[in-house]
Amino acid sequence: MRKNIVAGNWKMNMDLETGIQLFNEIQQLLKEEVNGDQEVIICSPYIHLSSLSQLVNPNTNLSIGAQNCHQADSGAFTGEVSASIIASTGAAYVIIGHSERRLYFSESNSLLAQKLDTVLKNGMAPIFCVGETLEQRNNETYFEVIKEQLTEASFHLQGVEYRKMVLAYEPVWAIGTGLTASPEQAQEIHSFIRGLLADKYNQDLANNMTILYGGSCNPKNASELFAKSDIDGGLIGGASLKARDFVDIIKALNE
Ligand code: PEP
Repeated sequence: MRKNIVAGNWKMNMDLETGIQLFNEIQQLLKEEVNGDQEVIICSPYIHLSSLSQLVNPNTNLSIGAQNCHQADSGAFTGEVSASIIASTGAAYVIIGHSERRLYFSESNSLLAQKLDTVLKNGMAPIFCVGETLEQRNNETYFEVIKEQLTEASFHLQGVEYRKMVLAYEPVWAIGTGLTASPEQAQEIHSFIRGLLADKYNQDLANNMTILYGGSCNPKNASELFAKSDIDGGLIGGASLKARDFVDIIKALNE
């Protein structure tokens, strides 16, 4: 049985104090209203990781994650943060390959391959993002694009390592735009990804891989998306900054 997960990506939002407030509100609402077996992950800015890790109630299924890391173990890389430093805060996940990193920081598939390695080596799980641009959707190259992203960045991993990852399909044209992939469009890609995993590894690994959908997911559209058989939860940007909306999306997983 694969895990159902809702992960929030706070991006570059929330100072430390407001982040802690938001985290406490989310945790309180989860305690009062949610009792499914889903996992919830909060991916905050680096600054918050240590404080949030210490606030996690061990009776909840809540984990903390980062949004990026440097590919090297340590060294003279001023301003960067390694996976081992992230792991030392208590974080369990790291988002790798978000489209904003690919676009604004020119992160290539080969660089992302190194980042996946360092996250896994440090005992954490990558949330590895793939997705096509609007141009690629319109010129119908999106299947090739997603296959290339997965192959070049992640198919060097052994199956035993791959099983520790979470994948996220995030069409770039749907991120922060208010445009959502229809449940059918998302299901088509999730099922395609599962097929690629079955071909490369095996059917058991494919069946057990958690594949999240991300892109303007909100409390209104979450139920329809999560109802699709290959969609195992969401990676949530904007709506993860409001405790009420985020928890309502989590509740949609259990409907
Ligand atoms: C994201 O940044 O991963 C994301 C899905 O953002 P949004 O929900 O705001 O579209």
